[in-house]
Formats: sequence, structure tokens, C-alpha cells
Amino acid sequence: MIKKLTLCFTTTVLLACCQTRPKENFDLLIVNASIVDVKSGEVSVGKLIGITNDTIRMVDNMDHENKFESTIKLDAENNYVMPGLWDMHVHFRGGDTLIDENKNLLPLFLAYGVTTVRDAGGDMTASVMGWQEQIKQRTLLGPNIYTSGPKLDGANPAWEGSLKVETHDDIKKAIDSLDLLGVDYVKMYDGSLTKEAFYGIIQEAEKRSLKTTGHMPLSADILKAARLGLDGSEHMYYVLKSCSPAQDSLTRLNIGFGMIETILGTYDPILARQVFLELGAQGFYVTPTNAVVKVLSDVSERDHSKDSLLAYIGEGIIKTYQNRVEGAKKARALGRRNLYQDILSLSTQYIPEMNRAGINILTGSDSGAFNSYCYPGESLIKELILLVESGLTPQQALKASIINGPHFFGLDDFYGSIAAGKVADIIVLRKNPLDDIENTKTLAKLIKGGKVYDIKEIHAILKSLNDQN
Ligand SMILES: [Zn+2]
Repeated sequence: MIKKLTLCFTTTVLLACCQTRPKENFDLLIVNASIVDVKSGEVSVGKLIGITNDTIRMVDNMDHENKFESTIKLDAENNYVMPGLWDMHVHFRGGDTLIDENKNLLPLFLAYGVTTVRDAGGDMTASVMGWQEQIKQRTLLGPNIYTSGPKLDGANPAWEGSLKVETHDDIKKAIDSLDLLGVDYVKMYDGSLTKEAFYGIIQEAEKRSLKTTGHMPLSADILKAARLGLDGSEHMYYVLKSCSPAQDSLTRLNIGFGMIETILGTYDPILARQVFLELGAQGFYVTPTNAVVKVLSDVSERDHSKDSLLAYIGEGIIKTYQNRVEGAKKARALGRRNLYQDILSLSTQYIPEMNRAGINILTGSDSGAFNSYCYPGESLIKELILLVESGLTPQQALKASIINGPHFFGLDDFYGSIAAGKVADIIVLRKNPLDDIENTKTLAKLIKGGKVYDIKEIHAILKSLNDQN
């Protein structure tokens, strides 16, 4: 019996040696890749990545290369391969006449490695949802889009296209309509939203498991809102309000945005730490949007007329840039304090502290019409650089984009790393971004929807789109 078994085993081994196993086939093989793992902060060299359709199917070592074959091969020798970037605060807006100009800018995100954007509300929801679908179907070149649809604001909304919400009935109707549209989250705006409506929206959205973020009426309290289920806050004003010992007396004065100067001037690091720890414990998200703050901090003095990316921006959108320039000029003439500069100089305190406290920092640029000279894609690279200037490490800044972005939408299983089963939204950089965040500017290639793009190719597409404008 033992003899028979041995014989049988020998035969099997011999057979296995003689048969050549068929090679596993992929649409695309990336060879010689140095994979940047943002979670661990490590780089693994000599890697193979197999991609079919838009999914990573295999990651292995180069010494197994002979086991695989592919239709296309991309040699990433001396390059760094990592997931695409997420811009969690952009806008598509400006009215029906600017729909095409907004659409033509979609490839610009890809030209800077931004493969996913979160639209934070505008006035062209039907178009945005159309693009969202076309990009999924690969009939349109652009980043994946998640959208809030229209913003929710009060009786006199600050932006076109917003839904007016005052009563409890309005809240139900508004959220019903967002539900029907199939939006990805709810965005609130403080043009004229009351604190009661603000809290009511959060509670109603919570019942339907819809995430909420946005601006907050300055009469409201962010800790109370977070306890009710608010998931995140856009920009820094609303979180910083709770970091001022003067917040209660300022709230009683009911002066709305008039309180911001005092809030920034009375930032209390000890109070801030308590606030951040509570928000951090709840898994709260904050999108500082310092990229737009930086542009607006000197928009009336700086000459942007030579900005190279203006070549891709349509005339209609460029016109909208004047609003904020004129506003800044007026504020300057009146001798008003430059609150944008105050926010930026405070950021070295609040950003590292929020991160230490466990708040999920998100990278959002606020690019879009009306937000002067804050260009799609490029502004997200600026946001990453500003996060590092504020005290985060390059790894922490990249985590805010690549890991926290998908985490907001519960998509951790599909994004955040180069691994089998994840979506193949991939960027190839010439230099390691963990060494220096400026290296995010060394983008050579991008993989999106199963296709490899040379960055020069995307610029050529942008140029031809703008020539049609
Ligand atoms: Zn915005």
C-alpha cells in the first residue's frame, strides 16, 4: 500500500513538471512597480500589478512575471505607483450657459492625478448626474463623481439651485427629493438656514442613513450637531467657533459671520483639544479647503492673468472669477481684516491637533466657477502641500485624500491601496511623494477605466475641448 502511494505521488510530480501551466492573462500588466502604500508609509519595490477591466486582479513580485501575460504592458521602472487622489470638495455650477464649460474641465482633474471628486452642490445636478453615469460607462473622460445634488439652504439661499428649507415639512420634502435623485450625501449651506432647520436636516438624513456635511449657521453648535449625527464640516469657521471661549456670548449677539474675526482672534488650544477629541471619537470629517483660502487671501493683489491653466478655462467661468476679486478689493479699501490669512496662519495649530485627535481630515480644493483661480486638479495638489505646510507629514496628507476620501462613502473595500480587488484608479509618479509632497507634481501616467493615459495626452484633449468652447 505504501509502495503504491509513493509511486502515485512520483507520477503526479512528474506530470506537474512536464505540463506548462497556462499563463494568467490580464488586460494590463504594470511591471517593475514601486508601490506606495499610504496606510503603512512604505514602498514595496519590484512589483507586478495585473489589471482587467477597471479592477486590480493581482499584485505579485517580479520574479513571478513568467506566470502572467497581458494585452498591454506598462513598465514602471524607477516610478512610484499609487491610488489616484480624491478631491472631496469641488463645484459644478454657474447656470445652464456654463454646463459645457464645466463639463470640458473634467479631464483637468485627471491631468493632476485626481481620479475621484465629491461635488459639494451646485445648480446643474441633472448634468452632473449624467456625467457621473457616462464616466462610469467610460463614454466620458473624467474623475468618478459623487454628488450632493442641490444644497439645502434657508428662505433666501446664497447660491442658485439650492433647495429652500424652513419648516419641518420642507425638510422632509427636500430630503425626499434628494433621496429620489439618488444623491450620495447631503450638503447644507448657511446663506439663511436657521439652526432649527440645520439640526432638523441632520436628524431626518440620519433616519435614512444619508451622510451630512456642509456649512453651519453660526447660531448653531457643532458639538450638538455632531451628537445628532452630523458627519462632517466644510471649511474651518464652524469647527473653530467651538474653539473660542467667546462662542456663547458671540452666539447670543446673533451677528452671524460678524463673529468670525473674534473667533479666530480668541482661538484657545486647550479648548480646541477637547472639541477635537470629542469630534475625533465620533469619526467626524473636516475638509479645511485651504487651497481656496490661500488663493482668496491675496486675490485682489496677485496678477493671475498669466496663469497657464487659464488656457483651459472657458470665458464664462473666467467672468465669474471677478465677483470675489471685486469683493476682496472692496474689503481692502474698507480696511477690513484679512480673515483668509488668519485662517492660514492658525492652521499650523488646528490641523495637526485635529489629526492627533482622530478627526478624519479630507482634502478638498473648493475649485469651481466663482472660486477665482482655484483650478480643478492643480488646486488639490496645492491642498496637499498646504496640509504639509500646516504640520502634517506627506503620508498623513496623502491619507487624508486617498484613504479618508473613500472612507467617507464607506468604500474602503474598493479604494485606498494597490491590492487585488480594488478599483484600478492609479497614478504613476516619477518621484516618491512620501519623501516630499511636492513630488505629487511629477505625474507621468494615469490609469482610469482600464486605460493608460500619458499626462501629455490629457493636456492635448483639454486643449482641443477648450478650442471648441
Ligand atoms: Zn464650496
